[in-house]
Amino acid sequence: MSDCLFCKIKNSEIPADVVYEDEHCLAFRDIQPKAAVHLLVIPRKHVENLDDLTDDDSEMISHIMLTIPRIARQQGLVEGYRTVTNNGAMSGQEVYHLHFHILGGGKINPL
Ligand code: 5GP
Ligand code: ZN
Repeated sequence: MSDCLFCKIKNSEIPADVVYEDEHCLAFRDIQPKAAVHLLVIPRKHVENLDDLTDDDSEMISHIMLTIPRIARQQGLVEGYRTVTNNGAMSGQEVYHLHFHILGGGKINPL
């Protein structure tokens, strides 16, 4: 998707503080952090949100779910962290490229 912000980050067309990448996903720091550590994990494949996934994405999404805890550990979030995914307009999703927020690095307010 040529006009997608996160595709541009993925393609290094827009700079980002990338902390992790592999064949399926990358993780970078949120530009407006809402916690001491605030990362965004995105698939390399352009998928709008969870609603846009198909059975063909099983391996990719499974890989990302298994990789999030590794990224969190690498970033020192050994005492816990929160993952958040917004899906659709009413959730407040701003960027329509699937992403998992990782929030941690201190006490996080209860939901
Ligand atoms: P959403 O509301 O779609 O779940 O979250 C989008 C997130 O992307 C927000 O937390 C916002 O701060 C972050 N964001 C928006 N633009 C940029 C950008 O250009 N670079 C980075 N690193 N994060 C961004
Ligand atoms: Zn995209």
